[in-house]
Amino acid sequence: LTTGRSHLNQTGQLFATTTVPVLVPLPGNRPYSYAVPDGMSVQPGSIVQVPLGPRQVAGVVWDGVTDDVDPRKLRSITKVFDCPPLDHTMRRFIDWVADYTLSPPGLVARMALRAPAAFDPEPWIDGIALTDTTPSRLTEARERVLATAAEAPTWARLGLAHAAGVTPSVVDGLIKQGVFERVRLPPPPAVAEPDTSYGRANLNEDQRAAANALAATVAVDGFTATLLEGVTGSGKTEVYFEAVAAALEKGRQVLILLPEIALTQSFIDRFHARFGSPPAEWHSDVPPRQREKVWRQIAEGRVRIVAGARSALFLPFNDLGLIIVDEEHDPAYKQEDRTFYHARDMAVVRASIGAFPIILASATPSVETRVNAASGRYGHVRLTGRFAEAAMPDLSLIDMRSAPPARGRFVSPVLATAIAETVAKGEQALLFLNRRGYAPLTLCRVCGHRFQCLDCSTWLVDHRLRGQLQCHHCGFAVPRPEACPECGTLDHLVACGPGVERIAEEMLTDFPDARTILLSSDLPGGARRLRRELDAIADGEADIVIGTQLVAKGHHFPMMTLVGAIDADLGLANGDPRAAERTFQLLHQVTGRAGRSGGRASRGMIQTWQPEHPVMQAIASGDAKRFYEREVNERERTSLPPFGRLASIIVSANSRREAEEYGRELRRAAPQDAAIEVLGPAEAPLALLRGRHRFRLLVHAPRKAHIQGFLRALIAAAPRPRGSVQMQVDVDPQSF
Ligand code: ADP
Ligand code: ZN
Repeated sequence: LTTGRSHLNQTGQLFATTTVPVLVPLPGNRPYSYAVPDGMSVQPGSIVQVPLGPRQVAGVVWDGVTDDVDPRKLRSITKVFDCPPLDHTMRRFIDWVADYTLSPPGLVARMALRAPAAFDPEPWIDGIALTDTTPSRLTEARERVLATAAEAPTWARLGLAHAAGVTPSVVDGLIKQGVFERVRLPPPPAVAEPDTSYGRANLNEDQRAAANALAATVAVDGFTATLLEGVTGSGKTEVYFEAVAAALEKGRQVLILLPEIALTQSFIDRFHARFGSPPAEWHSDVPPRQREKVWRQIAEGRVRIVAGARSALFLPFNDLGLIIVDEEHDPAYKQEDRTFYHARDMAVVRASIGAFPIILASATPSVETRVNAASGRYGHVRLTGRFAEAAMPDLSLIDMRSAPPARGRFVSPVLATAIAETVAKGEQALLFLNRRGYAPLTLCRVCGHRFQCLDCSTWLVDHRLRGQLQCHHCGFAVPRPEACPECGTLDHLVACGPGVERIAEEMLTDFPDARTILLSSDLPGGARRLRRELDAIADGEADIVIGTQLVAKGHHFPMMTLVGAIDADLGLANGDPRAAERTFQLLHQVTGRAGRSGGRASRGMIQTWQPEHPVMQAIASGDAKRFYEREVNERERTSLPPFGRLASIIVSANSRREAEEYGRELRRAAPQDAAIEVLGPAEAPLALLRGRHRFRLLVHAPRKAHIQGFLRALIAAAPRPRGSVQMQVDVDPQSF
């Protein structure tokens, strides 16, 4: 604990002797120095308010010693918030993330301080407690109140009336007589304490063995990482819930990371069924007041179980004892703005710093995680079959070269027949296409004009439901025109290619009597609407569902017996070495929506123009093992991650010339290192984004190399970015 004291120096000026480093939310590589005023006590991790220019900002007292600052320029901490300090583990984690991602530590710390109002204590509430006084007159209602009140030492006034089934006036009468005294009660918990024995599932033998193996990793103190691999529908969630129960029984806090908010509701319901109450949620849809409450109570250790998106990793747990990363392969775990980090990887780091176990769950683990499991760095727990009688769907490829649909149509005759059969049986069909809107491109049949975003190097996507052409990168939108802006011809604009809206239209035409639901993140009504639609599908209120990758993951639709993937090759085209893996994962997940209840045969049909492609072969044969072996070998041969390291530096500027020029300067500044290769600058995959021209340098290093050191040296040796030039470093870029 550091306590401020002040002294008079020889000239009679007052000066503070105690200074501490404080991380403030600014770019910059080091904490700032602040004086601790007289009588104030702080310690590393204390959340404080400090002056920064004309503003007051929240910062965190950091470890280490302060830089020398001219005492006349030294400013003082204005306030210590009455809230638990960020603990040692959390501070080391923030330092680690900053160092690894080359981000300013103050900006990483800011992610941990995302609920400013939570720094002040929650107000206590008015409560009552029984005294020794007996009531002058006993009515039946009063007796009920007294009997109920005896069950707990303190009550909220209204809560007691409610529990006893009387009107508040009965309780008020007893307060007036002195039978109850008023007391102050701590704020109510954000979520109820989970009950680990509440809805214990009856695990089958396979699941039991897996659950025991996971619980064993929780039983020992210390870091372990374990891959929980099992096909869709094998019961991974039920199984890792046993590890969650084990950690809760040890009195520790647990974090469950989920890739997608759209998924959380069904997850929350399942958690509730297992533990008797829902977990605290942490994602962008949680209202601010609830966030503040959750943040504060996590820091106080009162909330012990959180399910959340990647940002939950930066919550101020004071006794975190287990992290689960569900769907660990999911690309949504990568954050690509401000601080670029991969939440799965950083979760492993957090577990390692905190010396507790982490479990990575997936039906289609990432190549990185597979390699770690194969080398023994991670444990590997497998579930081999689907739960109960549910059989995996029968998978087949539809060769689009030999059976193309008619012009302007996108569902092949074979798939259309299968849909008809499915609907006739009263079962559900899911058509998956990972493309929002109606059509990815609009062009003029007369002059060939293509509608392009003015600020990005992309086509505008036709969104018929909204009547707009939209840019998916910057949000630019125009009403759908009737005339070509280039040649002025009316009514000759054509939509090229399919999006989900167009597939929905095709289904409405072909199956006018079927109940069709379109699911996409563009639907008006947001998350609540989506939840309703998902429930409706699960309840059998739809015959044909058309959706983007939103429907691919996690959902349990018992009546779904056919899944058709429309443009299965879509992700393979972009030349990214991860493209095959991503496509395999997505197709496996989406076909995994079929056949999740026992007793019904189910099918997955994949429309492809490249049926001989290894991804398509692996999906059709169900031989994931061979596919992954190839992927791993290929990565090893080319020393791509996890066998080598990559970082990308994106340089952007208002003009192409400026961006390219600075990219070249960076390249020239690269230190000589025989083992590390610098490629570029080349136009970045999105060469123009939001009006900024982008160039990219790729740094490729062997696994053992210290790529961060190399990048720091490169950046230090390069001239500072001038004018509109900006630079963004991405260590472990997801596409390369
Ligand atoms: P996964 O996450 O591996 O896809 P889930 O955990 O979602 O699998 O399980 C698939 C379905 O089977 C869910 O509806 C789940 O409730 C059910 N299930 C799995 N195991 C059991 C079990 N032991 N008892 C009852 N239901 C189970
Ligand atoms: Zn745009």
